[in-house]
Amino acid sequence: MKTLTKQSMQNTRGLFNFVVLFVMLTGLAMNAQNNPVKLKYFGTAGWEITDGDITVLVDPYITRAKLGTGPGVSSDDTRETVLRSDIFVSDTLLIDSLITKADFILVHHSHFDHLADVPYIAKKTGAKVIGTETTRNILRGYGIPEEQLYPVQGGEDYQFENFSVQVIPSIHSALNDKHYIDSRTYTETPNTPLKVSEFIEGNSLMFLARFANHTILTMASMNFVERELVGQEPDILLAGVNRSQLGLYQYNERLLKVTNYPKIIIPTHWDNFRLPYGFSQQSGVNQKLRPFAEDVKRLSPETNVIIPTHLGTITIE
Ligand SMILES: [Zn+2]
Repeated sequence: MKTLTKQSMQNTRGLFNFVVLFVMLTGLAMNAQNNPVKLKYFGTAGWEITDGDITVLVDPYITRAKLGTGPGVSSDDTRETVLRSDIFVSDTLLIDSLITKADFILVHHSHFDHLADVPYIAKKTGAKVIGTETTRNILRGYGIPEEQLYPVQGGEDYQFENFSVQVIPSIHSALNDKHYIDSRTYTETPNTPLKVSEFIEGNSLMFLARFANHTILTMASMNFVERELVGQEPDILLAGVNRSQLGLYQYNERLLKVTNYPKIIIPTHWDNFRLPYGFSQQSGVNQKLRPFAEDVKRLSPETNVIIPTHLGTITIE
């Protein structure tokens, strides 16, 4: 009787193990098909995007320097004021608390609020950095090894081992009420460390990043070259939303139409990046994001606009 019981228990265990293995394998297969993509918002135009396999950072600007004394700076922010003529210093403690690994870093342009923390992050993670010649030369100046740097100008479509990304030529926000232009680039390695003002634009890009189950079209300015986006059908659009798109002709209409009315739109670069994390960004939500979301609802009722919060993670199945 004892033996029988033992045997039947063994059979049961065998069956149990088989079921567990089956469920695990099915789970793996399901996972491979249904990998959700997770987007963590660092504020400004900064993101960490992962599909569970690879981790991609987009314009990761963590330091959020207290720049100047004008609008956008709070007297409750007790940090030291940084001027444009000051050497930029990354808040490495804060970066270390938020970023542990990265396979790729996509850089849209070389202004400080996109690139200034990348030298430290690239060194720390060993991530491959894809950006303009100016971005490449600045990072060279900070001693990032050549094999980590992929200089692009827009038009490239690169396949890596486990990730592919199309690089799209773009243009910068129409700053200074449409009087902005800056055609300077670094064609050689500049002396580092750079001052805040020495992080020049150096041309602007967009990226179509392809993850396991999602294609994400990234912006980091409130502007785009319409002809370069013809035929794009991303399922997620990180849309540049701020005041500087307001002076552009039918920005929301043209952007939604040329990207074929994406299912999900997440506004980016809308916050006040002179304030540290933890400070209220509600005025930006009320004054920029709500009107944008309402406009998208009118233009594309099926589109879901997701409003990101600092350091919050958005999971998309
Ligand atoms: Zn910029």
